[in-house]
Amino acid sequence: MSTVNNDCFVIDGKLALPYQYFAGRTGSRFIISIRDEKKIRGLKCEKCGKVFVPPRSTCERCFEDISENWVDVKNTGVVTGFTIIRYKEPHQPFDPPYILAMVKLDGADTPLAHIVKGVALSKMKTGIKVKAVFAKKTTGTIMDIDHFRVVDDKPKFEMGYSYDELEVGMSASFSKTISETDVYLFAGISGDFNPMHMNEEFAKLTPFGTRIAHGALPQSLIAPVLGTKLPGLGTVIPEITVRFKRPTYFGDTITATGEVVEKIDKKRWVRMELNWTNQNDELVAVGSCLAIPPAPFK
Ligand SMILES: [Zn+2]
Repeated sequence: MSTVNNDCFVIDGKLALPYQYFAGRTGSRFIISIRDEKKIRGLKCEKCGKVFVPPRSTCERCFEDISENWVDVKNTGVVTGFTIIRYKEPHQPFDPPYILAMVKLDGADTPLAHIVKGVALSKMKTGIKVKAVFAKKTTGTIMDIDHFRVVDDKPKFEMGYSYDELEVGMSASFSKTISETDVYLFAGISGDFNPMHMNEEFAKLTPFGTRIAHGALPQSLIAPVLGTKLPGLGTVIPEITVRFKRPTYFGDTITATGEVVEKIDKKRWVRMELNWTNQNDELVAVGSCLAIPPAPFK
């Protein structure tokens, strides 16, 4: 066996390199206010108005010394860029995958790099709103902000059409089959145990020849139309009139429909025509109402 050829052995090893990094006066004050007060502060240049977070003692634009101009910024902000960490390295704060993002806090002009949680990786995008979650156990590092959590900026409730959005001719409906159970529940709600609704033998003696639903029962089916569809959530109905045309029998399917017929500019209310039909398209009732549409979102 020859040892002449020049094999090159490679031996893997690791050097541990403990070190200390002095955060400086500016960086220290930044971290301390997060650790002790749960407040995020930046430095503001009075000359150009820029607020730096993380703070820096000199304005990069004006070269002004701004090291004493501390201002509070909000702990909410917007993601301006991000990457998804997918490989594992021992120095990482936790196991991948996770999102590392640039977060521009409200009130700041420069972004801060941090972890974002609370969103599926596939749904992550720039422009998403986030809020700082402070660490329960402080370490005197930037990880005293534990992470930024995505906040839902959708309105809590999907309000209905405002006056300006409503147009004459818009309509909406709601349908429901009226069962014997509905009639019994309605008798309980209203206290109206009239035998024409409850007692078949009595009802045979009436002009209808059988039990019918309370008039207010099909009438009430307009409430989900006005209150949740048109105009929708936030609507107030100051006036409603109904004329009954035909009884509602057990098992009838009633469709309540509302249509905008007039916009009353002076009051910013609308007038709506209402009708109720059964499964045979027979008119059960007609009516009208005034509706005060919801105010637009603030
Ligand atoms: Zn400046």
